[in-house]
Order: sequence, then structure tokens, then C-alpha cells
Amino acid sequence: MQETITLVVPCFNEEKMIPLFYQEISEYLSQFKKYHYEIIFVNDGSKDNTWLELRKLINTDAHLKAINLSRNFGKESAMLAGLMESSGEYVVVMDADLQHPPHLIEEMLRLIKEEGYDSVGAYRIGRSKKGNSESFIRVLYSKLFYRFINKMSDVKIKENATDYRMMKRKVVNALLELQEYNRFSKGLFEWVGFKTTYVGYENVSRKAGKSSWSFFKLFNYAIEGITSFSIIPLKLSGLLGICSSLISFVYMVYIIIDRIVNGTDVSGWATIVSLILFLGGITLISLGLLGEYIGRIYNEVKHRPIYIVDEIIKKKEVENSEKTN
Ligand code: UDP
Ligand code: MG
Repeated sequence: MQETITLVVPCFNEEKMIPLFYQEISEYLSQFKKYHYEIIFVNDGSKDNTWLELRKLINTDAHLKAINLSRNFGKESAMLAGLMESSGEYVVVMDADLQHPPHLIEEMLRLIKEEGYDSVGAYRIGRSKKGNSESFIRVLYSKLFYRFINKMSDVKIKENATDYRMMKRKVVNALLELQEYNRFSKGLFEWVGFKTTYVGYENVSRKAGKSSWSFFKLFNYAIEGITSFSIIPLKLSGLLGICSSLISFVYMVYIIIDRIVNGTDVSGWATIVSLILFLGGITLISLGLLGEYIGRIYNEVKHRPIYIVDEIIKKKEVENSEKTN
């Protein structure tokens, strides 16, 4: 029997990219004569005509399937929705903006079939090259993030890894079992384990539309990654507390002895004020940190669904619904 490759493509405001993406990817996939393929688009509550474009497209090709989520749930949730619907023995997650070069699929498949890997991720090389759309700050920021998260958490994330990857069915099933609400996929991919390797590709810029990542969103994403996989920040804030108490205790003893032995007048209003402000700052940061974790616990215990499906369409269903209309 022919094996199936499923492509999961989260789309948010990608009306311009859908036709371009479809053309390129279906041309590419049709070369894989030995495999059947299926493309699952997930419309993640786009504000533009993405869903309309998808409906038009679905009508033309039986390889396609589209899921409409009831609102924007974020890429992580959209990916999960697509994985849930996927049926292939091999599943690829890729962006709709063609920033994930389709030609890597062949290499990923080879690594899985011939070299026995269960999961192959893609990472970007040359992020900081000239002519690249990414700013210096963003590159620096991402470097810091990887350094930090890999020091602090049990899972090791490959630097510049993307969400573009091919997985065997068993890996997908493992991912689907993780029903956590705060999903940091890059970490989850690593957390499930299995034999994993990486392929590199030159960074490509978007063909149309624009990236939906603002600096604030990225910042949140980084916090998400760190808090999802590590409680070391909590321990660090405790450690900081212990250190500052110890230092202040030693200083206190010194002041008292200095007063008794040398009779030095205790002065230093400025020192006291700046110390109080400094320690106040540390306390507030620690509280904020605690808040980050508590907020996440709050979201988890509510057990809300990670996404809500509005409708799922395939070629035949569109024809049917048009007949009945
Ligand atoms: N995306 C999504 N939901 C969102 C944001 C993005 O499904 O809330 C999709 C988007 O359509 C694209 C992919 O996730 O296919 C990556 O998004 P983007 O290109 O904005 O991110 P970048 O490439 O800049 O990391
Ligand atoms: Mg992109």
C-alpha cells in the first residue's frame, strides 16, 4: 500500500500566500510518485480572505483539506489542530509563507527512511547575513534566548531551529498526547524524544504578506518557552534572596561592631534609600516571575480546549454544500 505524507500548514492572514504556496508545493509533491500526499491547511482565525481562498482551492484538488478555527488561537494551537486531523505515516509541519523551502522534504524523508530517524527538524543558517530581513537586535535576542533556555531547562533546543519538521506517525501521536494548554512546540518536539536529527537551510524572506511577530509577541514567546520547560528562574530568585540576606547580615554585624569599637556615626541616607529601592526591585521582579508561573497554572487548570474547530472541508464536501445551498 502507498504510504501517505501529510503536510500541516497553519495560516494566519495569508490570502496572498495561499495560491503561491499551493502552486509550489503541489508541483513539488507530485514528484513523489511512491507516496500519496495530503495537505491540511489550518485557518487560524485570519482577518483577511484566507478562508475564502482556501475554499476556492479545496474545490480544485482532492489532496487538500482545510480546517477553520473559530478564532485566532495562535500558531501552536493551529499546528495541533492540523496534527490532530493528519492521517499520514509521515507528517510535515510547515509555514504557509514559503520561508520553509519545500525541497527539504526530500532530504527529510531520506533521513527517516534510510537512516532510521523518527523526526527531522530544520534550522536556519545565516540569520545575520546582510540583505537579510531580520534586524540585528532580533538576531541578538534570539541568540540570548537559546543560550538561556538551553542552560536552564532539561530539553535542549537546537539553535535557530524552526517548527518546520517531518515526523513519523509515532512522534505525532506522542505530541498529541501532550494536552497542555501553554504549548511551546519547539520544546515539545524535543521533550517527546525519539531519534532526531536536523537539516540546515539558508534563511529565506517572505514572498508576500507580513510576519505576524511583533517584538512583544516574541518576548512573550521566549517567556513561554522558558517557563514551560524550567523552574530554575524560581529557584534563582530564591537564591538571590538568600544571597542578599547573607550579605546584609554580614554588613549589619560590621556596622554594629564598627559603632561599638570605633564609635563611628551611622550615616548614609543615600545608601539606605538606594538599597531599599534595589531590594524592592528585586522583590517585585521575583513576584512577577512567580506571577508568570501562577498565570500559567491558572490557564492549565481551567482545562479549556486548546482550539475550537468551526468547520473542516474537503473537496467533495464543498461540492455537496454548494449543491444544498
Ligand atoms: N500563524 C498562525 N497563527 C498565528 C500566527 C502565525 O497560524 O497567530 C502562521 C502563519 O500564517 C505562518 C506561520 O504561522 O504560516 C509562521 O508565521 P510568520 O511567518 O508570521 O512567522 P515568522 O516566519 O516570522 O517566524
Ligand atoms: Mg514566516
